[in-house]
Amino acid sequence: MRLIQSIPELRTLRQSIDQPIVLVPTMGALHDGHLALIQAARELSEQVWVSIFVNPTQFGPHEDLGRYPRPLEDDLAACRRLGVSVVFTPEPDEIYPPLAIPSRVDVPGLTAELEGEQRPGHFEGVCRVVLKLFNLCQPTVATFGQKDYQQLRAIESMVVDLNLPITIQRVPTVREPDGLALSSRNRYLDPGIRKQAVGLYKALRLAEQLIEADGETDPAIIERAMQQTLLAHKIEPDYCAIRHPETLAAIDLVRPPVVALIAGRLDGVRLLDNLVI
Ligand code: AMP
Repeated sequence: MRLIQSIPELRTLRQSIDQPIVLVPTMGALHDGHLALIQAARELSEQVWVSIFVNPTQFGPHEDLGRYPRPLEDDLAACRRLGVSVVFTPEPDEIYPPLAIPSRVDVPGLTAELEGEQRPGHFEGVCRVVLKLFNLCQPTVATFGQKDYQQLRAIESMVVDLNLPITIQRVPTVREPDGLALSSRNRYLDPGIRKQAVGLYKALRLAEQLIEADGETDPAIIERAMQQTLLAHKIEPDYCAIRHPETLAAIDLVRPPVVALIAGRLDGVRLLDNLVI
């Protein structure tokens, strides 16, 4: 496994590789969700490249950039175990040359609401860094988790709109036994209140039940029921939304497939999840 920090070194290596490359972009602190992405990538190619980069441009000024976990040695050991060929861990100045004038990359039609409304600038940072990683690594396929559904849709859409020769492989959300979606931020949860976090998954399953078993078609009724479930678990809702699974537009009448998207704060820790129904 090669560990690469510099862009010139990455480019030289890239030029010498003929096999298709599958890229797994991450911010590190790898958990079983990330490992599922790497395993899915490994099934497609022997050349799996993992990027580990805590991307400053996708964090807001009051977010957790400084304290975001960076257990690099553990991450490298996990990558080695799973047969990763290259781990790219650039410093911020390598990705964002201090003298470069920033370009703007975004898919506003998909990112203005939901997470985008809660985290202004977040998706611009995500799209910009992912496009950079695509240009640097030139993968044939890149894997993304369904856990971050709005991000996944933005990247899928960017690839189509900008004619990038890359296939986006969706990987289903990996969950704890009680249903909590794995996230690098779960480690911020105090063990005493961790069990309340299942409220997000319960709210999503309730939406599924209301739609599939009860035939509920009014999104407002379903969204209210999801909110009540969050509040019952002491989670302060940011949003509970039933949306079109491709455009993420609001809908008047629920007719599956739809996506239920949910975010909230538990004891100051921001959690998000979703379920395609
Ligand atoms: P992050 O390191 O949080 O930027 O995530 C890197 C990639 O891992 C993204 O494509 C995420 O959607 C994906 N991911 C994060 N958590 C999970 C999970 N629990 N299950 C599946 N994929 C995940």
